[in-house]
Amino acid sequence: MPGGLAFSATAVLPAPASTALRAGELFQVLRDGHARTRAELAEITGLARSTIATRIDALMACGLIGPAGEAVSSGGRPPSRFAFSASSRVVLAVDVGATHVLIALTDLGGRVLDESRAAIEVAVGPVAVLDLVVEQARRLLERAGRDVRELAGIGIGLPGPVEHSTGRPANPPIMPGWDGFDVPAYVQQSFGLGGELDVLVDNDVNIMALGERAGYWPIEENLLFVKVATGIGAGIVGRGLLQRGADGTAGDIGHVRLSRGDGVLCRCGNVGCLEALASGPAVASALDAGGVHAESGEDVLDLVRHGSVDAVQAVRQAGRDIGEVLATCVNLLNPSVIVIGGGLSAAGEYLLAGVREMVYQRSLPLATARLRIVQSMAGDRAGVLGASHMIIDHVLSPDRIGALVADA
Ligand SMILES: [Zn+2]
Repeated sequence: MPGGLAFSATAVLPAPASTALRAGELFQVLRDGHARTRAELAEITGLARSTIATRIDALMACGLIGPAGEAVSSGGRPPSRFAFSASSRVVLAVDVGATHVLIALTDLGGRVLDESRAAIEVAVGPVAVLDLVVEQARRLLERAGRDVRELAGIGIGLPGPVEHSTGRPANPPIMPGWDGFDVPAYVQQSFGLGGELDVLVDNDVNIMALGERAGYWPIEENLLFVKVATGIGAGIVGRGLLQRGADGTAGDIGHVRLSRGDGVLCRCGNVGCLEALASGPAVASALDAGGVHAESGEDVLDLVRHGSVDAVQAVRQAGRDIGEVLATCVNLLNPSVIVIGGGLSAAGEYLLAGVREMVYQRSLPLATARLRIVQSMAGDRAGVLGASHMIIDHVLSPDRIGALVADA
């Protein structure tokens, strides 16, 4: 091997990790909620028993883990077990929709403790919507007997494009007044906590993808979540991580052009977009034009529930349109699960049948060999579940826990 290569190999050896960082990594082992003894943790991590003992003490001092009874003794004093204290802090998870907000209070394991819903148009602007969110959030905290200081963070999903790194919406089409608004700063100030409070913001489809995966597909590394509602969009999970793309617009499949859509104008200004053909309002207007009265996605669902053949056929065609675009996504990304969510997914098998028909016809056999195409199981809670997990994964990351232990 040339000397230069050997030298650079030495140069990239990682520096010895700090005790604090290793405490953060030890904590990740306990995040699954199972109680373990010091000996079991030593075996899993390969660390010395004395080192484990020091780090357990540090994590206990932060309140993140606690004693969890005793293991069966093999002679002598039974060894103590330790487990993640998911209830030590709480998280607020907010899903802002076009016409409503859903707010959930969860523990650090993502378990919903309480929730509240309110009707408000996102178009009234960020101050009115966020003031309502903060008021409802304070009420949830009060009802649970938790102090604002026990908040680990707030996760917020918005119905439009968001620059995730800053938490600012970016040219959201249905959200006048929100463009560039500093959502994290406003929420932090409203709680009187400034930068101490973690506030993360993302678009609703991304958090729905996180929520569906965390709740129902935790071992699937490659998942595509498709929201079919007033708009159509996808959240992409690749190798276990949300893929936002360079500018946060990854997964915006609603404006892919389909040949069937020639002459159909989309709200984005182009013609033939998937969204202009297969969203709830698009299916409703197609039915209406054919003499079956429908004004919204809800009307379409009502017709399907009452057995309207026209509505069933229109929904199945919407499924085929979505499937045509997804077939390309499958060839490109090779997901193992596609979850169909959003309001129109309540049409169930009628929509899924159309999606499956096109995906299996148009995708490569190897790409569909293990592929499952299913309806969302989280339903309208996918957003809050995902917002909660977005915050939890951030505040409980090895680096953050390491820093917390070091400061303690
Ligand atoms: Zn469009």
